[in-house]
Amino acid sequence: MGRYMGKYSRYMLWGIIFMVFIVIIIPLLTISFLEKNYTKVEIEKMGKTINVFDYQTNKLMTLDLEEYIVGVVAAEMPAVFDIEALKAQAVAARTYAYKRLLEPDPTIRQYHPLADVITNPAICQAWAGDDELKEKWGRLNYIKYKKKIVEAVEATKGQILLFEDKPIDPVYHASCGGLRTEDSGDVWKYSFPYLKSVPCSGHEDKHIRDTKTIPLRNIDVALGSDLEAIPAAKLQGAGINNYIKVVEKTKGGRIKTLNVNGKKFSGNEVRTKLGLKSTWFTWQIDNDKITFITRGYGHGVGMCQYGADGFAKQGKKYDDILKHYYQGVSIGKIPD
Ligand SMILES: [Zn+2]
Repeated sequence: MGRYMGKYSRYMLWGIIFMVFIVIIIPLLTISFLEKNYTKVEIEKMGKTINVFDYQTNKLMTLDLEEYIVGVVAAEMPAVFDIEALKAQAVAARTYAYKRLLEPDPTIRQYHPLADVITNPAICQAWAGDDELKEKWGRLNYIKYKKKIVEAVEATKGQILLFEDKPIDPVYHASCGGLRTEDSGDVWKYSFPYLKSVPCSGHEDKHIRDTKTIPLRNIDVALGSDLEAIPAAKLQGAGINNYIKVVEKTKGGRIKTLNVNGKKFSGNEVRTKLGLKSTWFTWQIDNDKITFITRGYGHGVGMCQYGADGFAKQGKKYDDILKHYYQGVSIGKIPD
């Protein structure tokens, strides 16, 4: 009996070891083998460095410019996008970074006197390091996606966008809403000749329709609009349109100026203050709340990322995509 049990537990033990080997050890060995042999983790360096301030760790990193671009493309654009869209993003990101090397941004310098760029996307471009990317993508996808992004960056090595021989301000956004991008002068104070409203690729993406419901009280706090003081019966249904009115639309069809209970706001101001995804929106009232229905995500100026992917899937190459969104530009190289 005792001998039988001993034999039995030995089988069990070998069984467990075998299972651990199959389920844990083999996949781990495979992943580390793939990571070592098939991931070009290190991009070919270009010899120009950039000081990157990591706002999460409060540390200044000195990276090779091309290495920095890989982290920006990985953080700013979905890696499943077409390779031509990733190449277009790489050139836009590089142009932005190079411009910061030529003309330091005082806002970024406030964070660190030597910083050229910061990883905070609200101030600069987003950037993600390898640890963050492994977490975001998972280790197996990390191998696939990192390789794809390195390929996009290397294929456009050193390339930047020029207008009249000077690097441009290559602003970009997630989704224009599918139809048209926006004229820079309709969104900001200055109009740039290369940032005009142009037709987009007709893309339909996850940002095409979004809603945000905000209590009247919160709108009043954000805009100082006093909507809550209006008798409820006057506000309901179409009544709300007597108090929230579009004054002017942009060339791209978004809201340029909005009148909220007698006060005028730019579309961009309303978007920022109410935290809406875009200035392309409508609204409806339901008792003491207003629901804003937005189309697209971002300011709408310059390259539309989902649109770039749409054009790439229609067969356009990265340089044509860039020349479409940034009218009148040429592609040049960072001088040695
Ligand atoms: Zn678009």
